[in-house]
Amino acid sequence: MKIAIMGAMPEEIAPILEKLGSYKTTKYADNEYYETTYKGVEIVVAYSKIGKVFSTLTASTMIQYFNCDKLLFSGVAGAINPSLKIGDLIVASKLSQHDLDITAFGHPMGFVPGGSVFVEADKSLIELSNKVALELGKTVQEGIIATGDQFVHDTVVKDNIVKHFKADALEMEGASVAVVCNALNIPFFILRAISDTADTDASFSFDEFMESSAIISAEFIMRMVDKIVD
Ligand code: SAH
Repeated sequence: MKIAIMGAMPEEIAPILEKLGSYKTTKYADNEYYETTYKGVEIVVAYSKIGKVFSTLTASTMIQYFNCDKLLFSGVAGAINPSLKIGDLIVASKLSQHDLDITAFGHPMGFVPGGSVFVEADKSLIELSNKVALELGKTVQEGIIATGDQFVHDTVVKDNIVKHFKADALEMEGASVAVVCNALNIPFFILRAISDTADTDASFSFDEFMESSAIISAEFIMRMVDKIVD
């Protein structure tokens, strides 16, 4: 077993690296990958940089170059579902690219031929997360995550994403990672802690809460890792 743990930004993986202790750094494809053994299991950690392209590259690299056979993503997101508050955790049941638009040809938003509007996350990893949540006495909401190459800070954009995808949260990497893992048959798990509500105040809220929310997500991911390696 070799587990990939991904974030998009340095702050999202810093708490994970801290918990893992020492690691070897490998430079590959204009990025750094941190390799270690944790409780007898090999782990590769990396942050991709923001957005669908960089996250696609990193997920592919972790699977094809580093031979990881499971992928866990930890990070922050903007909330759409009003029940999600700052610091709350959301686990993706399925993910979609909200900015993939060839509707001019009669296709639904998020769809291109050969693909699908949604990619479903691995059910057994979600089940495992429910066990972890129960043990920690934490609430982790399962929901739809919409991904696109934009920081959403506008209720009109948000409403449009709800209209097309009924999404509960949005971010900029999850669906691209999902597409890669799905194509390569790698079970994946996308976890996000809320940093903002994707409206006019989003950038201020993000700056204030990104780091603390990233820690909440990272701590939960490490509990998942503990369960997986046990
Ligand atoms: N402040 C950063 C940019 C952050 S972009 C800088 O200046 O470099 C937002 C990041 O957090 C992305 O990785 C995305 O996945 C996530 N995210 C959090 N809230 C979001 C929102 N409202 N819209 C889109 N992505 C969001």
